[in-house]
Amino acid sequence: MFNNQQILRLNSAGHPIGWVNYEIAARLYYTDQIIYECGTTNLRLRGGYNRITQLRSYLNINSIIATRNLNKLHYPAFTPSLNNKTLFKRDANKCLYCGNTFDYKDLSRDHVLPLSQGGEDIWTNVVSACKRCNNHKGGRTPEKANMLLLAIPFSPSRVEYIILRGRTILADQMEFLISHISKSSPFFQRYKKL
Ligand SMILES: [Zn+2]
Repeated sequence: MFNNQQILRLNSAGHPIGWVNYEIAARLYYTDQIIYECGTTNLRLRGGYNRITQLRSYLNINSIIATRNLNKLHYPAFTPSLNNKTLFKRDANKCLYCGNTFDYKDLSRDHVLPLSQGGEDIWTNVVSACKRCNNHKGGRTPEKANMLLLAIPFSPSRVEYIILRGRTILADQMEFLISHISKSSPFFQRYKKL
């Protein structure tokens, strides 16, 4: 479990940048890149044995680390890449037409305005749909197919995207990330409902 644990990395201003694995986190510690820690969880990483003392070294890695070398980057424009895994997660594994929950393999990417009608393959034009609903809709718009879209598709913000890409998010990491989401975001509304 520990080996899979992702560490939340912040820039020097305290804004979430993304996930790093424990190996990268350890390198950041050893190269003195950590400005401060702000998680409540410490993960203890075992190092090697000292040749002289025969004592084993340990490194405590905090669950949320702010790093110094991203100052220059500040916060460049962010475009979340679109992939089915993250899309289905955005829609809570629900088909946005029939409202039922499905496994990954039974969901598909539906283009609300079909590609054949000039619709784009972008976050704001795609929703999760079960294969049955997607087949039924075919190359039509929801209106033409007489199907009601249950929620308006949106493009996740940087922080929302970080949450969607998280594998095993610790409670303190989630609390930190949620505090960086606008209360009016559709993502926040959805999260509160889950
Ligand atoms: Zn459906």
